[in-house]
Order: sequence, then structure tokens, then C-alpha cells
Amino acid sequence: MHTVDLHLHTTASDGRLSPTALVNLLAERKLRFAAITDHDSTEGMAEALRAAEAHPSLTLIPGIELSADAEGGEVHVLGYFLKWENEAFQETLADFRRGRVGRARQMVDRLAGMGLELAWERVLHFAGDGSVGRPHIALALVEKGFVKDVPEAFNRYLGRGGPAYAERRKLTPAGAIDIIRGVGGAAVLAHPSWVDDLEERLVSMKEAGLAGMEVYYKRYSPGVMGRLADLAQRFDLIPCGGTDYHAMGAEDEAIPGEMGPPEETVERLRARCPGGASAGNAHPGGVP
Ligand code: AMP
Ligand code: ZN
Ligand code: FE
Ligand code: FE
Repeated sequence: MHTVDLHLHTTASDGRLSPTALVNLLAERKLRFAAITDHDSTEGMAEALRAAEAHPSLTLIPGIELSADAEGGEVHVLGYFLKWENEAFQETLADFRRGRVGRARQMVDRLAGMGLELAWERVLHFAGDGSVGRPHIALALVEKGFVKDVPEAFNRYLGRGGPAYAERRKLTPAGAIDIIRGVGGAAVLAHPSWVDDLEERLVSMKEAGLAGMEVYYKRYSPGVMGRLADLAQRFDLIPCGGTDYHAMGAEDEAIPGEMGPPEETVERLRARCPGGASAGNAHPGGVP
């Protein structure tokens, strides 16, 4: 079992466990270091940090996942050790979340145009008070019986370039890295297997200050992880990773503890934060 998971979602975005429920699960599964990385939101952080007080063996690292766009594909950028309470940062995230609402409405309109009528309230219901995303639309499609499950909703309608897909605001990968570094964080490329022209992309992201990339991700095979580890070494990027757990209940979903980077990763990331990392509930002085 793995003791580090640097990629986790809660009800603050499109995960299905509350921050408290997730933190309790992490403790139960003997995780020692974990980062909650909700999409465009740190709204779960205060609750998660409170819940972690009951589990002294677990250190939480404040994180985020930002969606950027590059030619030909989405690029997700993770951030760690963020001074997340920064006001300008919170305004930026709130702005991104407002953009998500408009975009979700567009996708719901496109589905209606195809004869798949969804009540907007159902999408909002699945989003709860979290930042709305395509998984919430997918759940509304499942509820109506238009598709059998969430993956089918993505494959047929919601995937990038799919008939109901709507573009988001434009944020470049370098822009996402700037936002993360701007609040003292280390930026890490998420699930590199999604990224077209990965090597080219790594050159420009490295120039923008990228600190690491995911290697130990979800259900990556040893072969894929081996190739990504080589690439990370060539680009001097810290190999990171986690389960990207959403608690969607899918049979093949990786559970926290089933995948993750080695413990040394945490200190390596901290060392690459611009201007000294903020510590989450990490022990003062930086020694866990
Ligand atoms: P959004 O933030 O609205 O762009 O939605 C992105 C999220 O949708 C990702 O973080 C995943 O949780 C989920 N997702 C993306 N592609 C798929 C897929 N093919 N099947 C199931 N979930 C997906
Ligand atoms: Zn997600
Ligand atoms: Fe992602
Ligand atoms: Fe994710």
C-alpha cells in the first residue's frame, strides 16, 4: 500500500465524498501525506484541515487542480503547498467557477438540442455547493436513463470534441503555473497520458516553472509509469501522482492507498516552492 496521495477530489468540486468523509477515509487507509486537489476550488480546505486534526499521523497539503487548454487538448495542472487563503487567488478561482456554470449551461442546451432534456436543477443538485463540472451533467444524464453510466456520457456526449462539449475560458498551461507559483505553490502536470505532443508541452511548461509531473497515477501500468519516469528524469521534474479519487463508485476506480508516489516526493515538492512553502497542517519547521 502507498502512503502518499497527491490527487483527490471532494464535494467542493466533482468528488462525491465531503472533505471530512475523505479525510477520515485517508486516515483509515493509513495515508501519511495527502493533497486535496479540487477543480478550481479550495472551498473544502478549511473543513478538511479541521477533520485532519483528529488524525495526527496524516499531513494534508493544500492543493488545487486547474484546467488549462493547449492546442489539441486539455492540460490539467496541479498545485501544492498553496497559500490558498490569498484574496486575489480566491477571486481568480471564483471567476473560474462562474465560467464553469456558464459552460455547463451551454452543454445542457446542446443536449436539449439533441433531444436530451435535462432539468438544470438536477445538474445543480449533483454539483451541490461544489464547482460544477461535466461529471455532474453526466450524473443527470444517467438519472434520466439517457446513458447507462458516467463513462458512456463522456464517450457519447461530453468528452472533448463530443457533440455536447463546450469550451471553457482560455487559460494557458503557463498561465495556470503562474497562478500556482503566485501563491507560493509547486506546479505539477496531471495525468500526462492525456496530453498531446507531451514532450513539446513539457519544454514550455518547464520554462514556465513546472516542478513535477504525475507518474504514479490511478491505474497506469508499470510500462506507462516507466516511460513517464524516464521523461520526468530527462526534464528534471519530480515524479508525483495519486489516485484522482472521486468516489464515483465505479468498479475499476482506484481507492486512496492503491497508487501513489514515494514519501520523499513531499519534501522534494516543498523544496521547489517559490519563496518558502506554506505548510497546511504540516509540522512547523517542515520536518514531518
Ligand atoms: P470538467 O472539469 O467539467 O472539464 O470535467 C472534467 C472531469 O470530468 C475530470 O476531472 C474527470 O473527473 C471527469 N472526466 C473527464 N473525462 C472523463 C471520462 N472519459 N469518463 C469519466 N469521467 C471523465
Ligand atoms: Zn474531477
Ligand atoms: Fe484532471
Ligand atoms: Fe482530478
